[in-house]
Amino acid sequence: MDYELINLEDAMKASRKEVIERYRKHLNPELASLLAMLGYDRKFVKAEGFRIFDDGGKEYLDFLAGYGTLNLGHNHPELMEALRKVSEMPNVFQASMGVIAASLAENLARITPGDLNKTFFCNSGAEAVDGALKLARISTGRKKFLYTQNSFHGKTFGALSVTVRKYQDPFRPLLPECYSVPFGDDKALAQELKKGDYAAFIVEPIQGEGGIIEPPSGYLKEAENLCRENGTLLIADEVQTGFGRTGKMFAVEHDGASPDIMTMAKSLGGGVMPIGAYIATDEVWQRGYGDRNKCILHTSTFGGNTFACAVALKAIEVLVRDNLAENARRMGERLHKKLDGIADEHKLIKEVRGKGLMIGAEFYEPKLAKGFSVEYLAGMVSGILLQEYGVITAYTMNNPNVIRFEPPLTVGEREVDYVAESLENVCKRQKGLLGVTLDIGKKMLRRRMGFGE
Ligand code: PLP
Repeated sequence: MDYELINLEDAMKASRKEVIERYRKHLNPELASLLAMLGYDRKFVKAEGFRIFDDGGKEYLDFLAGYGTLNLGHNHPELMEALRKVSEMPNVFQASMGVIAASLAENLARITPGDLNKTFFCNSGAEAVDGALKLARISTGRKKFLYTQNSFHGKTFGALSVTVRKYQDPFRPLLPECYSVPFGDDKALAQELKKGDYAAFIVEPIQGEGGIIEPPSGYLKEAENLCRENGTLLIADEVQTGFGRTGKMFAVEHDGASPDIMTMAKSLGGGVMPIGAYIATDEVWQRGYGDRNKCILHTSTFGGNTFACAVALKAIEVLVRDNLAENARRMGERLHKKLDGIADEHKLIKEVRGKGLMIGAEFYEPKLAKGFSVEYLAGMVSGILLQEYGVITAYTMNNPNVIRFEPPLTVGEREVDYVAESLENVCKRQKGLLGVTLDIGKKMLRRRMGFGE
C-alpha cells in the first residue's frame, strides 16, 4: 500500500492555518466558521490542570472543562502515570474478564447511592443512556419512556428520543412511545406515571444543556417514590453532574434519592480516556440479563477496556483523596455569591443558578429594535471573556443565553475571583446590553472578514 500520509510529528507541527483548512475540508466547515466567530480558531498546544496554552504561548483559564469532563483538570499526571502502568497489559480482550474493569465496577458500587451494584461499561454518555433505556425495557417488559422537557441525554437515536425536541426534528422517526413532562413538576409526573405502563423515567438531577436548571428540592426523592409506586424504573442521568461536580459525589445525593439505574461518563475517564457506564440494582439487572441466553444481548467492543478502566480507577481515587467534591461546594458557593453580586449591580444578568461548580448565568435578551432581539448575548460575553481575559466558557446547548461556569474542581479562590472580576469588568465597561452587543458585533464582523482579533 502506498499512501502519502501525514505522520504524528507533522500533525502536531501543522500551522494554525493548515489545521483550519484541514478541519474545513475534512470535518465540519460550518462548525469551523462558528468557532472562528467565537474566537476559538486558535491552535491550542498544551494543557495542564485548569490552564490551556496556544501556539503563541498565551495562557487561558479553562472554566468550561469539557462540559463536566475535566473534573480533575487536563492531563492529570497521576492519570497519565496510571496509563503507563497498565500499558503492557492486554487492553481489548473480549474473551476474558477485565482485570481492572472488575475492580472499577466494585468501586462504582461503593461510591454510588442506594443498592446500585451491577455495571455495564461503554464509551460515552449517549451510549450509557441507550444501554440504560434498553435495560429498563428488558427488565420491566414495558415499552414506554418518560423524560423531561428541555432535557439533554445525548444524540444517538435512543438518547435523542428522550432529549429536547430541538435536536429531534430532523431525525424522525425516533424511538416510539417516548413522552415528556415538565422538569421539576412532581404533579405532572404523578399524573403520567399513574398510567402504570412506563418502563422508565429518565431525568438529569440538574439540567445541564437545558441552561443549568435545578428542580425544586425534594423532586428527585418524590420521583423515586412515584416510580416505585407505579412499577417504573428511575434512571438518573449523572453524565454531567457526577463525580463531585455539584458538591456531592453524585447530584441525586442532595435529595437523598436512590435511582434504579444511573448513567455516567465524562469525568469517569478523568478527561483522559473516553468511558461511559450505567450501574443498576442487582434486581433490575438480574431481571434483564440474568440468564445464559440474555447475558450477551447488550455489549460494546471497547466497553471495559483496560486503559480506560485504569484511568477511571485512578480518577476516582484522586477525586476522593483530594476531597474535590468539597472544594467544588466551597468554590461554587464563592463564585455563585460573586455572580449574584454582579447580577444585582449590572442589569445584564437575569439569574444565576446551579450547585457546586455547575453554575449558569442567564442573560437578558436585549431588544435592539422592534422585532429584532439578540438571543446570543451570553455567547458574545463568552467571546469577550476569551479574547480579552483569556477565560474559556461557553453557552448551554438548549439555551444559548446562559453562560456556564464548570471549571475543573481543582480551582482555588484566585481563579474564581479572577473570572468573577473579568465578568464584572465586561459588564461595567460595556455600559449595558446595547454596548456589549455592538462591541462584539463589530469584533465578529472583523473576524468574519478576516481582519484578525
Ligand atoms: N447526558 C447528559 C446529562 C449530558 O450532559 C450529555 C452530554 O453533554 C450526555 C448525556 C451525552 O454524553 P456524550 O456526549 O458523551 O454522548
